[in-house]
Amino acid sequence: MESKRVAQGVPLEEYQLTRADHRRQQEAVATADWVQRQVAKAPRWSDEKFKAIQELLGSPPHPSEFARWRVRLYCGHVREVRRLRGQERPDGGVTDHERCGECGLDPSVIVAFEPLAGDG
Ligand SMILES: [Zn+2]
Repeated sequence: MESKRVAQGVPLEEYQLTRADHRRQQEAVATADWVQRQVAKAPRWSDEKFKAIQELLGSPPHPSEFARWRVRLYCGHVREVRRLRGQERPDGGVTDHERCGECGLDPSVIVAFEPLAGDG
């Protein structure tokens, strides 16, 4: 599938955080906290239920269905991430943040990005 992949805030190394970035980061942290509290309250899933949900979700996509992106996270680190092909940008919907493997910030929202050549 042909898709137009866009870049934002390049060069990533020189990107300056905006007020909107700070707000998105706060929202992502608040959402993650909320989810964690709900998960802590919820009863543990039985093995049967876990299996049923897995079957419902189907098998995970094949690696060839992913495209690679370079993204700059809120904490300032630049990482490589994978997103399903056909996506114009890597920060849509629930995928707008990552756990930073370098400093451990989780969530750390994506503030700038560029598609990596050779894919998509
Ligand atoms: Zn980081």
